[in-house]
Amino acid sequence: MPTRRQMLQWSAGFVAAPAVLRAENAPAWKSDPFNLGVASGAPSNDGFVLWTRMMGAEGGTALSVPYEIAADEGMRNVVRKGVATTDPVFGHSIHEEVTGLEPGRPYWYRFSSGSAESALGRAMTLPTPGADKLRFAYFSCSNWQAGYFSAYRHAAEEHPDFAVFLGDYIYEYIETRHPVVRAHSGGKEPHTVAEYRARYEQYRSDPGLRAIHAACPSLVTWDDHEVQNDYADQWSEDFEDPQVFLSRRASAYQAFYEHMPVKPKFSKPFGSEMRVYDSYDFGDLLRVNLIDGRQYRSREACYRKPDKGGGHAETAKACPELLDLHRSMIGEAQEKWLFNNLSTSKAQWNVIANDVLMARLNQPAPDGEPQYWTDDWDGYPASRNRLLISIHDHKPSNPVVITGDIHSFWTNDLKLDFADEKSPVIATELVGTSVSSDGPPYDVFSKFVPQNPHVKFFESRKRGYVSVALTSKRMDAKYQVVSDVTDPNATLSTLAAFVVEDGKPGAQKA
Ligand code: FE
Ligand code: CA
Repeated sequence: MPTRRQMLQWSAGFVAAPAVLRAENAPAWKSDPFNLGVASGAPSNDGFVLWTRMMGAEGGTALSVPYEIAADEGMRNVVRKGVATTDPVFGHSIHEEVTGLEPGRPYWYRFSSGSAESALGRAMTLPTPGADKLRFAYFSCSNWQAGYFSAYRHAAEEHPDFAVFLGDYIYEYIETRHPVVRAHSGGKEPHTVAEYRARYEQYRSDPGLRAIHAACPSLVTWDDHEVQNDYADQWSEDFEDPQVFLSRRASAYQAFYEHMPVKPKFSKPFGSEMRVYDSYDFGDLLRVNLIDGRQYRSREACYRKPDKGGGHAETAKACPELLDLHRSMIGEAQEKWLFNNLSTSKAQWNVIANDVLMARLNQPAPDGEPQYWTDDWDGYPASRNRLLISIHDHKPSNPVVITGDIHSFWTNDLKLDFADEKSPVIATELVGTSVSSDGPPYDVFSKFVPQNPHVKFFESRKRGYVSVALTSKRMDAKYQVVSDVTDPNATLSTLAAFVVEDGKPGAQKA
């Protein structure tokens, strides 16, 4: 063991590390222990969490894994040497909390074990007030079966300051309705920790996904497919006994934790519960509120109708439960947390990183009766009203909702009353398409758009992500698309660009 004085010296970067820092208990690796890649996340003003998971590590003894952090990409100016330990209960994952660094700058890091060395990753610390420029990308819905993750690869090449993952990072189901470009291993839906782990391992074998995690810090939340399609809290879409479903959820949450760069003390799952919702302040330029739209939501309205528990279209007439004021998308505690975070924010821009469509999307029944999709915010209208009224009353600066789940691009005005054309626009929603998952039918959804005048743009035929450039004056969002999701070498182009100007809710075509 190094002495305390040695540790302090190393952490201050005064001396080169002696050979003893190479962990004594590093096994002789038969294959690359770092083949899931590296990631950073949960940034603070003076640090971040560094993540990796040691593939091939077995047994109940923690492994010591040295790492280095440098001020330069060439790793010449090493400012920190440390030794992380794996958590054998959580798949030998590492969630190393680093502190004591300078604010508002990039750092580069690398792990090693025996003769194995990880990929080089880039992290960053949060800026202090005064920073006036940020670039970020956001993603949702990467279904391995539907194609290659070229969207992640191209986003990494843009070198954003950070990336936001809005959910459906993995898919649990086995595709039967759409063409399969590459099959899920295992051949069945995961239920156990080992089975969910195998999904993440397979997904991380895509070089594009490893590249985006190495390129910049990741801010992560989830949607349904990290566990099961359209689940809500303890209610599964297939009417499983809630206690049985919660044990499946526990396995899924554990595997999510094991593979994401989240804070260990804050996010480590406890049984079937895991804290994901959180916020980050990028100086006084941007506050990002990551919300959890699955773990605390009320049961979907008219759950047992017609014959499945997941999303379906309902009229308020046939399903009065929809309008019940007690129902919530994010649960009472998270609503309080979010409303408080918005109303007390000093940030110029206030982003809500959200899993499912927030804008009203009327998909009228054949007789013209308005319908609501029960799985997105339309299924929780009272909860949406509380949020939008809170924004209207407390007026956080420039509220923008970024959204995934629906496998299509949407630019929406968020209004207190979507049915009233004169109702003021109080926030902007920019929905990104899927990384790879199949989009909803374009012709069918295009017909709904005129019934929803707050929708400014819709496109479901393209896969990709959204690339954002932010200053105090404006948010520029580029809708980035890949040429062909079945081509591992797909090229990138920009489908459309929107700008949100400071003080003016609602996006304009750029
Ligand atoms: Fe999805
Ligand atoms: Ca989803």
